[in-house]
Amino acid sequence: MSKPSVETKEGTAAANFLRPIVQADLDSGKHGKIVTRFPPEPNGYLHIGHAKSICLNFGLAQEFGGECNLRFDDTNPAKEDQEYIDAIENDVKWLGFQWAGEPHYASDYFDQLHDWAVELIKAGKAFVCDLSPEQAREYRGSLTEPGKNSPFRDRSVEENLDLFARMRAGEFPDGTRSLRAKIDMSSPNMNLRDPILYRIRHAHHHQTGDKWCIYPSYDFTHGQSDAIEGITHSICTLEFEDHRPLYEWFLDNLPVPCKPRQYEFSRLNLNYTITSKRKLKQLVDEGHVAGWDDPRMSTLSGYRRRGYTPESIRNFCEMIGVNRASGVVDIGMLEFAIRDHLDATAPRAMCVLKPLKVVITNYPEGKVEQLELPRHPKQDMGVRMLPFSRELYIDAGDFEENPPAGYKRLVPGGEVRLRGSYVIRADEAIKDEAGNVVELRCSYDENTLGKNPEGRKVKGVIHWVPAEGSIECEVRLYDRLFRSPNPEKAEEGGSFLDNINPESLLVLKGCRAEPSLAQAQPEDRFQFEREGYFCADLKDSKPGAPVFNRTVTLRDSWGGQ
Ligand code: ATP
Ligand code: MG
Repeated sequence: MSKPSVETKEGTAAANFLRPIVQADLDSGKHGKIVTRFPPEPNGYLHIGHAKSICLNFGLAQEFGGECNLRFDDTNPAKEDQEYIDAIENDVKWLGFQWAGEPHYASDYFDQLHDWAVELIKAGKAFVCDLSPEQAREYRGSLTEPGKNSPFRDRSVEENLDLFARMRAGEFPDGTRSLRAKIDMSSPNMNLRDPILYRIRHAHHHQTGDKWCIYPSYDFTHGQSDAIEGITHSICTLEFEDHRPLYEWFLDNLPVPCKPRQYEFSRLNLNYTITSKRKLKQLVDEGHVAGWDDPRMSTLSGYRRRGYTPESIRNFCEMIGVNRASGVVDIGMLEFAIRDHLDATAPRAMCVLKPLKVVITNYPEGKVEQLELPRHPKQDMGVRMLPFSRELYIDAGDFEENPPAGYKRLVPGGEVRLRGSYVIRADEAIKDEAGNVVELRCSYDENTLGKNPEGRKVKGVIHWVPAEGSIECEVRLYDRLFRSPNPEKAEEGGSFLDNINPESLLVLKGCRAEPSLAQAQPEDRFQFEREGYFCADLKDSKPGAPVFNRTVTLRDSWGGQ
């Protein structure tokens, strides 16, 4: 298999432009040790885009002997939840990373941020504004027009201190006042037009309870939290590039312990995939999927349940590189990464998805041979035993009464090899009243175990399981959740929901798996020969009765995509 390349404006990229920057900062002695952070807002589960950021932040820290913090950016209590905090911690660990010390919360710094806000007021650099959100929008101007100063901009320090204290004390309803920095309403950078530092929000917070009814804005929180934690390289996605002057303004105007530097990189966009927490939440809330960890979701918990390995996701993130170019990564790269890893690590097994009974009429009744098959063709993973006797199952799709040209499987009067076993010939197809084939009568050639038949060539090899000893199981065939490469793009009047692939899940019951699979533990991964890579479902597998999720097909079946 050759490694597909990513196409970006900068050509084939697998480099990480931040590595040399970090290296130079260490070489020059600017930093003795680097400290990065991964700062999710706990308002949803992590998705594949976050994996890029996690691998980048934790990866750099690991590579250069530094540290990476996990910090919950929890300034918007209305949308946040403990469930998300727990899920995020789990997912980061599952990906294989460990943050330094305890997880941090931006809300840990609310007291400090409040004190700094008071200092800005005292320095005449912040004021309480009574404009409503709508009015404030009008005053803000646009990209082409400068803004106008708020009529409340010139309040005295005393009045501002008094009003801010009363905001904090809960005297005013939500949205009636805000605390704003006094920067420049005519700046070409909209972020510098007297940005909001604090909003009134009478909301319970998952960490701070009812202590606060004013909450700092993202911009007022993020950089200062970085500074408090001694972050050296604050890495974020490109949409924050225009926020950098504000990030620096706060650091320059507050007595922060250090001045982290912000670097931006381009976010991961993956075709056939949604990576917006808001839309993923909508898929969950409206029941289009079975939950955040539905194996079709682009969440890390979804990929995990689907059978993706942490290694494959880390390899994928390494393959796509880190740069500042916009572009869309082909999902084929992610699928390549998981096939590549599972090909090397997943034991082989046989599972018949649509069982068709076969009776070997010339095999002695009551006789059982224990066949020994390797678990892996290349790695030493030991063997599994497969009992061979008179009755077995093959897949209904491996027998054709009227075969198309080139068909190499079983046909009336034709021969095929049963994987790891004998060559059999189809002698008779038994049908039900409707004419469906319900059973095959076959004969076997006893001289073909482990050797070619004499005087003739048998091309086809098919998988099978013994009738006795195989286990019945449920198999879930998952496919891409969206059928169009750019699911966000909807027909007029429609939404991304219209692009859902109606065939993204096919549940097969009554499948039959070889005996060794009775021991499959949740999350065990296999290659089911000729069918694909599968993983025993984390939630629905029962002891002795696994449910298997298809992780990925053996080959790309989306042709050219
Ligand atoms: P969403 O748009 O899905 O809500 P977000 O950026 O609001 O994502 P956060 O929880 O704030 O989500 O993200 C935490 C970190 O992950 C941020 O530093 C953010 O830049 C990064 N991140 C989010 N999405 C991507 C992506 N698609 N590619 C790379 N990094 C991402
Ligand atoms: Mg965000």
